[in-house]
Amino acid sequence: MPIDPKLPYDNDNIFARILRGELPCSKVYEDDHALAFNDIRPQAPVHVLVIPKAPFVSWDDFTAKASDAQIAGFMRAVGEVTRQLELDQPGYRLMVNMGGHGHQEVAHLHVHIFGGRQFFHMIA
Ligand code: IMP
Repeated sequence: MPIDPKLPYDNDNIFARILRGELPCSKVYEDDHALAFNDIRPQAPVHVLVIPKAPFVSWDDFTAKASDAQIAGFMRAVGEVTRQLELDQPGYRLMVNMGGHGHQEVAHLHVHIFGGRQFFHMIA
């Protein structure tokens, strides 16, 4: 079910628990700003989620409330993951689902990185 992005941050959402080490993840990358791990239900040969280490519910929450340093650090981390996975040359797709119409299911901002195959014009 999509989440309501206007609700306060839930400290027990699944990605918060992964950040605290309470739940396992298949880690791909980590720095001061972000953690990246493989999606548990991959939709492509490469399907990685990148999450900020600070408690932001959604893209809207993040872009409204994060500091410039947090935004820069997180965006840099997303780029670093794609380079470490050597996705740059064939290319890749980024996606952020926001709120109900975006069908966001986990209430901690995450950027999806899809790679390893050709993508077409849109995802339904
Ligand atoms: P959303 O629809 O953009 O919120 O995507 C949530 C994503 O989180 C989905 O692609 C899920 O497969 C993924 N996911 C949910 N739980 C876990 C987990 O415990 N580990 C890794 N990925 C997860």
